[in-house]
Formats: sequence, C-alpha cells, structure tokens
Amino acid sequence: MEQLHTSLAVEKAAQSKIDQVDFSKLVFGKNFTDHMFICEYKDGKWQQPRVVPYQPITLDPSAKVFHYGQAVFEGMKAYKDANDDIFLFRPEENFNRINKSSERLAMPAFPKDYFFEGLTTLLKLDKEWIKKGNGNSLYIRPFVIATESGVMASPSMEYTFMIICSPVQSYYGGEVKVKIADYYSRAANGGFGAAKAAGNYAGQFYPTKLANEEGYQQIIWTDDATHEYLEEAGTMNIFFRINDTLLTCPTSDRILDGVTRKSVIAMAQHMGIDVEVRPIKVSELVEAANNGSLKEMFGSGTAAVISPISGFANKDQFWELPKQESPMAQQIKQAIVSLQYNETEDPFGWRVKVD
Ligand SMILES: *Cc1c(COP(=O)(O)O)cnc(C)c1O
Repeated sequence: MEQLHTSLAVEKAAQSKIDQVDFSKLVFGKNFTDHMFICEYKDGKWQQPRVVPYQPITLDPSAKVFHYGQAVFEGMKAYKDANDDIFLFRPEENFNRINKSSERLAMPAFPKDYFFEGLTTLLKLDKEWIKKGNGNSLYIRPFVIATESGVMASPSMEYTFMIICSPVQSYYGGEVKVKIADYYSRAANGGFGAAKAAGNYAGQFYPTKLANEEGYQQIIWTDDATHEYLEEAGTMNIFFRINDTLLTCPTSDRILDGVTRKSVIAMAQHMGIDVEVRPIKVSELVEAANNGSLKEMFGSGTAAVISPISGFANKDQFWELPKQESPMAQQIKQAIVSLQYNETEDPFGWRVKVD
C-alpha cells in the first residue's frame, strides 16, 4: 500500500458490543461492528482520516444529502479462512468504482491510501466480528454524503466519507420470481444508472413494491427507451443460461458494472463454459422459455454472489423455469465462494490478504 499523506488517527472503543450479538440469527445489514472509518472533506481537501467507535453522526437539517440526494456507496466483503486469515475480494474494483460514482455526482475523489489504510485498520480492529466457515462474512459499506448546509441546488462543498461494517451470514432469499419491467425504468441513457448512487435505489422501491404486491420478489429492468432489452435484476446484474451458453448484456450508462458480474464471466470461461456478452431481447427470452432452451436465470451481486431465479413474468404470462440437476448457477457460485474463502487456488489474483 502507498504511504499516507496524513497518518490515520485511531480511537478504540472502550468496550466491544460483540457479546450482545447473536451470530446465529443475523439479519442482513442490521448489526454493526465496534468501529467505523470517517474522513471529512472541506476547504477543497480531505481532512484527517480517523477510525473511531461506531456512533451516530450529526448533520445540519439543511445538509445537501437530505435534499438533493448527493450520495454514493459501495458494497464489498471480508472473509476469514480456516487459519483466521482475513481476505478481501477484488477491493480495488470497489475503490475505483466509488470514485467513478462520485465523479458522476460531482463529488470529489477519495485518496486510495486513505481508503485502504482505513479499511485495513478497521478490519484488524474488528476482526472478531468476521466469523469463519459456512457463508459467514463481514459486509463492508463505504459511502460518501454531501454534508454542506444550505438548500441551494448546487454541488456541496463539504462531504463525509465513511466505512461501516456489518457481520452477515450466507444469504438465502428463497424462491425468486421476477417480473419484466414494461413501464417503469431504473435508469436512462445519459443518466446515472451506472453509478452506485443512493437515488438509484430510492427510485426503484415503488415499482418493486408494486411487483411484490403481485407476488414477484424482484423486477428485471429493461432499457428505458423500448423495454425490449433485458438489463438488470433488481439490484443485481442478470445472467441467462440458454442451452449450455451463459448470456449477459454489456454494461452501459444504464447498467452497474458489477464486480460479481465480471467475476462470474471470467470464472465461467475458466470453467470452460461458453459465455456471450451481448444485448438480449425480452422476445428472445420468451422464445427460449417456450422452446425449452431456457435452462436458468440468475442475478449476481456481492451480497448473495448468485441468486437463482425460479420463474419470470412478462406482461400477463408467467414461465416457471425447469429444475436442473446440477445448476450452472450453483457450480459457478461454489467456485467463486471457494476462492473467496481461500479454499482453492486463485488463478486470477482476485484474493487480497489483509495484513
Ligand atoms: C451493486 C449493484 C450490483 C452488483 O454489483 P457487485 O459489484 O457485483 O456487488 C448490480 N446492480 C446494481 C444496480 C447495483 O447497485
């Protein structure tokens, strides 16, 4: 890692809260570790980075994040292997992406050495919160918010960058039935769908709620102009298996360039699976479902790695996907998860040991 411009200040928590947490009953993203990383931006530069006890922050009610949604975030994980060593998975990808997201929202880039020094220090201080085995991991949430007070509609001159961490267990969402969007859109050409911005999520809640009421857990987003092309699965990227080929659409202004998506593509190719990255029409999916060549659909994202989809609705019709003996989704997930937990070789250089 590079040398810090300003050394990190560390204030340790007087007492750990870890005994108050039941690690066998974790709800995703509900519990947080003992410490957090915080760094403020003002007078045109990032100030002293700090690791402090996890605590509430105070903001003026007119802080711009509340009014104009100038906020971006990341999602990444730390894993512990059988020897209690801690690993991150492709962390540079998340670091680069948060700065790309920030740029799209007219926010300043965060220094790389601050990010990694802060994250590493946090993980070492809170290492007891990372449990080994069986899908346990630590979900890491870096984020940046606009903190300047004043309701003028202009980019903030002040920001806060933070990292908070939440222990999680392997995520099983149950059967996921999805509905293909034919009216609402999550992103548009020239918009900020490719940024991991808070507002992209806010805009998705209402159409997703309507889909939930109809019995679907998620929406498959289509392109905003025609609703003819399949683009994302809720807050995940989307894959289709037609016969033995794995398909996913190319990234664009409207699609989040997922780390898991990239990893699924590379891992599948490494496993000898045929992968096609190209635009996929709703009509092609319907045809494949009708002629039996559509074998699997799944979403990809950091939280669950891969979430299998059991069926999809398009307009008023519903298709249940056939059950597979040995789903491609499961094989690829297993290969990625084993790599994340340091159980297998890493031919890609994705795993980064924290020390
Ligand atoms: C975070 C996110 C993903 C998945 O990205 P990963 O890097 O794989 O976690 C996909 N789509 C959207 C809209 C997202 O916000």
